[in-house]
Amino acid sequence: MSIRPPFEIAAIPALNDNYIWIIHNESCAIAVDPGEAEPAHAYLKSHGLQLIAILCTHRHADHTGGIAELREVYNVPVYGRRHPGNPHITHDLREGNQLKFGSPAIELNVIEIPGHLEDHLAYIAADTKPGILFCGDVLFGAGCGRHFEGTLAQLHHSLQRLAQLPGDTRVYSAHEYTAANLRFALACEPGSEAVQQRIADVKRLRAENQPTLPSTIALENATNPFLRCTQPEIIQALQRRGLTDTSELGVFKALRAWRNLF
Ligand SMILES: [Zn+2]
Repeated sequence: MSIRPPFEIAAIPALNDNYIWIIHNESCAIAVDPGEAEPAHAYLKSHGLQLIAILCTHRHADHTGGIAELREVYNVPVYGRRHPGNPHITHDLREGNQLKFGSPAIELNVIEIPGHLEDHLAYIAADTKPGILFCGDVLFGAGCGRHFEGTLAQLHHSLQRLAQLPGDTRVYSAHEYTAANLRFALACEPGSEAVQQRIADVKRLRAENQPTLPSTIALENATNPFLRCTQPEIIQALQRRGLTDTSELGVFKALRAWRNLF
């Protein structure tokens, strides 16, 4: 079994607002973060696809809840970070690991992006053009994940790493949060034409029941406040809310705290 380019990446809505990403060619598929089994299984079945692997970005139940049931049907390897909270992992991953499926292969590089959870992983396609990033709950459309473990400095650093990927890299986040995140982005940068344009684009997509993802690194760099902590308009918006530490990390921390209340 192999995944040969060209391959497709399908967005499978799951639970309230999750996406399971299914990478597939005509016959084989890899599922990323299957939070529930049924919608993934239905897609695989209706497209005549054989599941050959499951990838996990992190151990939260809305990303892992479907694994056991899928494995009853497909009995495939599960890649991710081994942890008592995610007993399904068969292949424990670390920064720098490379995954290869098939020949010619789809190759994915593993990077560690702590900050939402301390052992959160991302997968970056090794040689596709444009690039492909599966970033779970660290980078969202116009936003970033909540901080549960590790430090906010780690989360900031992880986001900075992703922000430095090539601008045309496709960003496959795990939740449809873009519209709500853009309301916050507009509060941070009321004068931003890029944010206003994205709000219009997202409104149109959601009216057609289309995903707002994947986005691109360039679009995130232009509209995502958590990647824009040095922008004067954002700093001024936070200063009006009492910000005194205007270092990049100070701004990031203040943004994350404001977003939690927004
Ligand atoms: Zn999560």
